[in-house]
Amino acid sequence: MKKLLTLALLFGAVTAAHSQFAVQVAKPVRPLPAIEHVVIISVDGLRPDRLLLADMPTVRAMIKEGTYTFWAKTTAVSITLPSHTSMVTGVIPRKHGVEWNRDLPFSEPVYPNVPTVMEMATKAGYDTAMITGKSKFSILNKPGTITHVHLPATGNSTNDDVAVNAAKIIEEFKPGLTFIHFPDVDATGHAKGWGSHEQLAMIEKTDGQIAQVFAALDHAGIRASTFILLTSDHGGAGLTHGADDPRSRHIPWIVVGPGVRKFFDLTQMADLEVRTEDTCATACWLLGLPQQPYFDGKPVFAAFEHAP
Ligand SMILES: [Zn+2]
Repeated sequence: MKKLLTLALLFGAVTAAHSQFAVQVAKPVRPLPAIEHVVIISVDGLRPDRLLLADMPTVRAMIKEGTYTFWAKTTAVSITLPSHTSMVTGVIPRKHGVEWNRDLPFSEPVYPNVPTVMEMATKAGYDTAMITGKSKFSILNKPGTITHVHLPATGNSTNDDVAVNAAKIIEEFKPGLTFIHFPDVDATGHAKGWGSHEQLAMIEKTDGQIAQVFAALDHAGIRASTFILLTSDHGGAGLTHGADDPRSRHIPWIVVGPGVRKFFDLTQMADLEVRTEDTCATACWLLGLPQQPYFDGKPVFAAFEHAP
């Protein structure tokens, strides 16, 4: 009993020391102070024209309230793992080194060559979260780099599992940065086809799951101080998606939040091409994290009313 008590005291001391350390980390200065939280939502396999055809009240409201383009581009390979890694590291696949698309093919865990935005935010003192529907995302979960993680142990889970757990984490911890990945639109595409009625129905169902994330932000009381970015990793055609096919390459990029231009179409700037690497760069900028010299992405300043 005495031993247990000593242990408990020791443990208490360690936790206290840890939390003291956490308090001492000065949070970075954010360029738009009204934005305190960033949520990145990726709907796997969501081709922009299918989104526009679908009945998606939540996403329609984002478009009206925010800035958007349906001509953003994912990586040249247009497959899930390399593209998501580019989305959260800000660099093309050749630089981050994740050029395969399966569960880890190696016996030892392998991680990208450069840190994820979650890792950079965690190191800067933010509470961070990742909730995904595919186990292969474990390559983005280098131990100690993300505060709250929910991903299936093997294979794929479902949008429902992702929505429920994302809502739980947002409501309980109000993370500074949350990355959410919905798997079902891609799964239906591979089973029934991109452009199929079944996939369209799944896209419409996904709108309800995105609404669950918004509801969680409301319950947490942080909706008004959150920047939300909705995007995808690739589109598709037939039962698959791949390199050099414009139907795979284009992705939606829709953002809302305080200071974001309302009902603003980014294609008005003819020279601006939004690429998936810009998601990481934009999130870094909003969180007051440095733009890394090796980044291929850039912050999409045009989305904000007052930006450099
Ligand atoms: Zn796929």
